Amino acid sequence: MNYKSTRGTSGEILSAAQIIKQGLASDGGLFVPESIPSLTHDEISALCSLSYPERAATILSKFLTDYTYDELLCDCKAAYCEDSFPGGAAPLKNVYDNIYSLELWHGPTAAFKDMALQIMPRLLSRALTKTGEDRTALILVATSGDTGKAALEGYKDIDKIKIMVFYPVDGVSRVQKLQMATQTGDNVNICAIKGNFDDAQTGVKVIFSDKDAAEKLDEKGYFFSSANSINWGRLAPQIVYYVSAYCDLLTSGKIKMGDKINVCVPTGNFGNIFAAYLAKLMGLPIDKFICASNQNNVLTDFLCTGTYNRNRDFHCTMSPSMDILISSNLERLLYFSAGAEKTAEYMSLLNTTGAYTVESEVLNTISENFKGYFADEEKTGATIKDYFKNHSYLSDTHTAVALNCAEQYINETGDKTPMVVASTASPYKFAADVLKSITGTNPTDALKALDILSEVSGTEISYPLRNLAERRVRFTTTIEHENMLSEVFAFIEK
Ligand SMILES: *Cc1c(COP(=O)(O)O)cnc(C)c1O
Repeated sequence: MNYKSTRGTSGEILSAAQIIKQGLASDGGLFVPESIPSLTHDEISALCSLSYPERAATILSKFLTDYTYDELLCDCKAAYCEDSFPGGAAPLKNVYDNIYSLELWHGPTAAFKDMALQIMPRLLSRALTKTGEDRTALILVATSGDTGKAALEGYKDIDKIKIMVFYPVDGVSRVQKLQMATQTGDNVNICAIKGNFDDAQTGVKVIFSDKDAAEKLDEKGYFFSSANSINWGRLAPQIVYYVSAYCDLLTSGKIKMGDKINVCVPTGNFGNIFAAYLAKLMGLPIDKFICASNQNNVLTDFLCTGTYNRNRDFHCTMSPSMDILISSNLERLLYFSAGAEKTAEYMSLLNTTGAYTVESEVLNTISENFKGYFADEEKTGATIKDYFKNHSYLSDTHTAVALNCAEQYINETGDKTPMVVASTASPYKFAADVLKSITGTNPTDALKALDILSEVSGTEISYPLRNLAERRVRFTTTIEHENMLSEVFAFIEK
């Protein structure tokens, strides 16, 4: 199985290991497989009796054909082990009637990015060996909180890789800061910078494009790499949990083989929902994809009108991981719906004008599968309260957006197909907003909000967020953002 660019102009035809190492295609496009492997009903049946790591290795081996099944199984077992995901990686809970919550947040940082970031570093480490790379990869991440922590947990103590995370000193919550400052692992470094998230991100981008720095790094046996969410190594592992959910519905007798399900995904960068679509292209019986957005509803508008327009106000919401105006992975859907040439055109327009409009045939093709809805802050808060009071289900702010959008879709269409809603974060990760939605009062202390939420809801705090205040703080450095590069060299020379 080889991979090529969504924009079709780079001419690159590369193996999985090569693209996982490289990240982006050289024409700026994203890598996509040349063909989609099939998943037959018999194969789905066979997966039903297997564990999550075994299901994952089977699906991944269809895409990563330059990795052996045994290599993938070994990595999947390590990534999704009981220590990291107590009780299993992607449990499916019935919320009420035929609404199911696919809980993707039982991992080491209590958010769904763990599902990809626990396995991707292992795939990258092997990719370095497979491509004859003898240097060490130095991952740089600028974070506004959640991605940085998930990346640190994923890359810590992985062979041939070091990771350095920069975050804005006053731009992350107290819980997030504590989570990062207490990070374990011998190959990690975390550094606060004076400035905002943009300063951190721009600083990392400047370092990535600095040829002198790359040369100096090369002399020391390192090269820069990113943990970006457009990397195929982060996308492919996400296909698995939709297949796994289907197997769980079969096993519990809720559906019969071949019955369709719908999925609803709280969406930001369009990675998660696109992975679900890939599962359908492989043969998993999925009917509709409900794309759920918050007040930043650029995707809702696109799916409704065919015009993508990022020239609009940016809203800071209580579901911050979906506060996005450029949804990068949408490019992969455009490629599969309109082809490489059109995709290159759209992306060039997006770059120059901030907007593009797809032809009506393209919109029709997309609309057969995708329906866009959004929930504003008021609806999101009301949904958290409603699900807690009426269905005894405690959801985080991102999941609540999706639950609300799923309801809007069902009310509008009367569609009775089982609905699998992706639940992307533990309610404890956003405890203050969840608590406020339920009780109407604003907790004064972010750490106390966790304990109060546990008391009010009668549920346990997710394990990665317990006893945060008691852990040993290892990283306390704060620097001017102009000094990020020298901090990077100080780290590898240590
Ligand atoms: C990243 C994230 C999302 C959005 O996922 P995409 O794959 O970017 O669409 C939703 N919820 C949470 C909690 C996230 O961290």
